[in-house]
Amino acid sequence: MPIAKFTYVANPARIVFGAGASARVADELRALGRRRALVLSTPVQKSEAEALAGRLGGLAAGVFAEATMHTPIEVTDRAVAAYEAAGAECIIALGGGSTIGLGKAIAWRNDAPQIVVPTTYAGSEVTPILGQTADGVKSALRDPRVLPEVVIYDPELTLSLPVKMSVNSGLNAIAHAVEGLYAQDRNPISSLMAVEGVRALHQALPAIVENPTDLTARATALYGSWLCGTVLGAVGMALHHKLCHTLGGSFDLPHAETHAVMLPHTAAYNAIAAARELAAAADLFGGSAGGGLYDFAARLGAPRALRDLGLKETDLDRAADLAVKNSYWNPREIKREPIRTLLQHAWEGARPA
Ligand code: NAD
Repeated sequence: MPIAKFTYVANPARIVFGAGASARVADELRALGRRRALVLSTPVQKSEAEALAGRLGGLAAGVFAEATMHTPIEVTDRAVAAYEAAGAECIIALGGGSTIGLGKAIAWRNDAPQIVVPTTYAGSEVTPILGQTADGVKSALRDPRVLPEVVIYDPELTLSLPVKMSVNSGLNAIAHAVEGLYAQDRNPISSLMAVEGVRALHQALPAIVENPTDLTARATALYGSWLCGTVLGAVGMALHHKLCHTLGGSFDLPHAETHAVMLPHTAAYNAIAAARELAAAADLFGGSAGGGLYDFAARLGAPRALRDLGLKETDLDRAADLAVKNSYWNPREIKREPIRTLLQHAWEGARPA
């Protein structure tokens, strides 16, 4: 592809990667010059968080295990109070996007340094983006202050991620890269990372479905999710993320599953205007970004219909209205009728043409 003008801004991050790497949390904490860390998790991963705090001994200031989806500010209020009461000087977030979101929300308020140990493929750990919910409304902000200082990727911690969640989370990661490829502010580095991230996940996800304890496949998937997340943090997103945000925020659809269902449809919609940008990724999926991604998702057993996620057919008109309400950049013009058709196909689970 010819190299045009571009601007490239790298988000700083220290990345520590490898099986068993989570044993290095204490060293990383000391390297940051901090001595007391509050360990964050969801209720589901509380025992893992407590085990990590136990291994840290006196370096752990406590465990706050109330992280939940969409980062409600009431939970952040309680977490900040726990952080202050414990005399903590650093955050260790162990988990997926929900736990990482809580860590970022604390850091946004008090600039606490963050060590993140991701256990899904959502990619939030390498973005300066924070989504928060106040009074039932979710909004997102972009601020370098929320970017974690250290990310420790340990594939061993992803062995427990159930196959369904692994697949949906992996497709969520692929969605960041696919949108990054045609982003208005894409650059040669973001596109390199996007293609390599999709390649890694395309290789790893079928192997994980086959054998969830395949550590090599787990490492490849986590490597891919790091790259895809980095793309999300580096360039602007478009139709796909906007639609998923609308469906999650206004209809309470689950995050990763919604990305998994929508990706083939949004890729097919935009492939008409961005075929050249998507070509390298499309090649991995048999030459077609839309249909190929749909077939890949089907092979992995991912959900393919919005109706299976609980959306009512009568909601589709409102979803289409909301999706076109605020203008934003997209490679193909956003028009209500084709978006309504796209949503209908996604609701039915039809294969995009
Ligand atoms: P999640 O963090 O909500 O995790 C889902 C469930 O799986 C939780 O109960 C969690 O404890 C559990 N879990 C996670 N890892 C596990 C493991 N290895 N083994 C067993 N259980 C495990 O899910 P998610 O998809 O990672 O994150 C979704 C949230 O992240 C959404 O709120 C989304 O908006 C946000 N997000 C933000 C960004 C960003 O850049 N700001 C990027 C992606 C996602």
